[in-house]
Amino acid sequence: MKMRQLIKRARNFSKPFRVSDGKGFRLKDVDPGDTLDFTSEDKPRAKEALATGVEALAALQDMLYAQDRWAVLLIFQAMDAAGKDGAIKHVMSGVNPQGCQIYSFKAPTSEDLDHDFLWRCMKCLPERGRIGIFNRSYYEETLVVRVHPEFLEKQKLPPELITKDIWEERFREIRECERYLTHNGIIIRKFFLHVSKQEQKKRFMERLENPVKNWKFSANDAKEREFWNDYMKAYEDMIRHTATNDAPWYVVPADNKWFTRVVVAAAVIDALDGLDLEYPKVDKEKRKELAAARRALLESR
Ligand code: ATP
Ligand code: MG
Repeated sequence: MKMRQLIKRARNFSKPFRVSDGKGFRLKDVDPGDTLDFTSEDKPRAKEALATGVEALAALQDMLYAQDRWAVLLIFQAMDAAGKDGAIKHVMSGVNPQGCQIYSFKAPTSEDLDHDFLWRCMKCLPERGRIGIFNRSYYEETLVVRVHPEFLEKQKLPPELITKDIWEERFREIRECERYLTHNGIIIRKFFLHVSKQEQKKRFMERLENPVKNWKFSANDAKEREFWNDYMKAYEDMIRHTATNDAPWYVVPADNKWFTRVVVAAAVIDALDGLDLEYPKVDKEKRKELAAARRALLESR
């Protein structure tokens, strides 16, 4: 398939899941089991599409790196076992590791807690020419910290700054920060992998029953299921407040991993294509330099 055609398909494929204006967004409108018009028989076709997508992505990343102007930040958020790690691994499998920077954000350290809430993520922003991946991010500050207020207490904030408006304020601060980054050439795309509670249960059971998956199981993850509805409310509110044209959310159905990965790959291809990437042009001066180097090399032994 020609590159242009593939890019157009990628745009159309990822578009139904893109939220660039959060106002009317309702999480219940997205079915975690959605696979558009693909059925499970189409799985091999989806895998092929992913392989083609991964190749295209590698080609685009190569130009991103050579051009050294833009940076791309991909943020992944999800409930446990939604397939964040697998999606990152598969979608990025073709890209040059040199052009890629991945960070996972777990529970904050005491050093993190001694700073403002964006600090630890700002230290990890991608350099120009690179694709940066945040596996969890500052969005946890409006998710786990909102669902468990005891985490907020540990943040050592001056008490008078903790008011009922704190979440609205954090949303605004995040929006402003993302606008600032965008204006500095860091392109942001955010992914919420939306898995259903039943599918999560199935995946946890697999982790318990399959010895090679045992290591992935954490009793705490299972405990967080009790807060499922609070998390869903927090995710919905987060998307409503932070989906913007510059930094859209993709709410990706995640009950079928093969489908999730194609949507993520398509959205990343679309983002890279929007940058009008090209290899740096060789000017007259440089051409002369290349010709001289070629001559010298030919004459040498
Ligand atoms: P995996 O389980 O696949 O290794 P993970 O991202 O789930 O990946 P864990 O170490 O299991 O990693 O979990 C990280 C935990 O850290 C999550 O429960 C998350 O909610 C929590 N966390 C992340 N950021 C914050 C934060 N700012 N404050 C409190 N907890 C946080
Ligand atoms: Mg985990």
